Amino acid sequence: MSLIKKIFEAGVVGAGGAGFPTHVKYDCEAEYLIINGAECEPLLMTDKYLMRTYSAEMISAANKIAEQIGVEKTVFALKKKYENERACLEKIIEDEEYKIDLFLMDSFYPAGDEQIMVYDITGRTVPEGGIPLQVGVVVTNVGTLVNSYFALQGKPVTDKYVSMLGEVNDPKIINVPIGTPINDCIKAAGGASVDDYAVIIGGPMMGTHYVTDEEINSAVIKKTDGALIVLPRNHYVIERNQQSMEHMKNQSKAACIQCRMCTDFCPRYLIGHDMEPHRIMRALAYSEDEEIFKMAQLCCECGVCELYACPMGLSPRLINVYFKEKVKDKYKSKQEEYSAHPMKKYRRIPTDRQISRLNLSKYYHQSLAETEKIEIKEVKIPMSQHIGVPAYPVVEIGQQIKKGDLVGKAKEDSLSANIHASLEGKIIKVDEKEIVISKSSEVEL
Ligand code: SF4
Ligand code: SF4
Repeated sequence: MSLIKKIFEAGVVGAGGAGFPTHVKYDCEAEYLIINGAECEPLLMTDKYLMRTYSAEMISAANKIAEQIGVEKTVFALKKKYENERACLEKIIEDEEYKIDLFLMDSFYPAGDEQIMVYDITGRTVPEGGIPLQVGVVVTNVGTLVNSYFALQGKPVTDKYVSMLGEVNDPKIINVPIGTPINDCIKAAGGASVDDYAVIIGGPMMGTHYVTDEEINSAVIKKTDGALIVLPRNHYVIERNQQSMEHMKNQSKAACIQCRMCTDFCPRYLIGHDMEPHRIMRALAYSEDEEIFKMAQLCCECGVCELYACPMGLSPRLINVYFKEKVKDKYKSKQEEYSAHPMKKYRRIPTDRQISRLNLSKYYHQSLAETEKIEIKEVKIPMSQHIGVPAYPVVEIGQQIKKGDLVGKAKEDSLSANIHASLEGKIIKVDEKEIVISKSSEVEL
């Protein structure tokens, strides 16, 4: 079976957040393969753990994938301060004589944004609204590489390493079946250390917030999730995210002082894109110019403008989300060549400053105990854990299932991915959205 077919069969998708089906990403020709080990968001530690623990596996997979794509150069990008991880990788690369260069990055946000990484390594700007392949680059995350390694051994994606941090009694990295309720993850980390809490899956800048009890009780770990941060419900980061769109639109019209700090710090503007959030804010208040609102499509929702740059507490990010949904006409690029802003390297956001601005210093140096595998009795496996078309269920209620069995099939001729059982047990619920597997033999159907 070909490498691409094995990765497709195993249901590998981007493990770093977006969930792009990996068999599609690797089925191309490119000049560069960049391995992203920079862990973009502050606080997270899962990728560091993977680089220490699975360095041999990820380097071996990278070598095979580089061959498949036919690249001239493979570059492993990680932060300078990751000294242990760097030592593990260097040893494997040297021992096995792999042709892989390390690229060491400073600690800034968003170091792990793939377009920033492509620019910093190759000097090429990914076109507006485009993907790295347009400038001859494939970027892959370290977690995706580990899953690809196991896919090549015939093992599907069934488990996830998750950093458990913030207000938990026993911060640690856990290994859980996909579909594990987040309440079980919190329990495994000693429970929450505050009574009234919210949860972010992912990082504090771009993660998904679960604030009400109903949201927390229904959330599960997916293939794309690598961290779970528990914060007091009245924490600055949680409250900023709770502002309604209507409130933010009204506040923006009244309070934007056109200082253009949002634009000057915007990572997309700094690599040469025509992305100027202060102009969108101005048009919102004065001109309602649809051409300017289309610019919102270039926003990657990194949160720099909202959580770092704006002195008035406004959220150009949220306004961009609004216009991405409202304006259906596609933004047409006017640029043929891109030049990065000459001040780009002086406008990076140092992680230390970002952490203190977000009021997260208390959790910055939390040490996470090494991984623990936890026992789970029931998993709810979503049929959509990736960009594109959801998988469709291929099992029935009452069916006994083994870990690794195919339970959701990728939709044919579409951008889609297979889904596998993450637990051995009985299927107790099937619909187009999710499959529930219970370990207990006493489940009433
Ligand atoms: S969220 Fe703000 S800073 Fe980030 S890309 Fe969008 S406009 Fe730029
Ligand atoms: S940083 Fe804030 S106040 Fe300044 S232009 Fe942007 S939205 Fe307006």
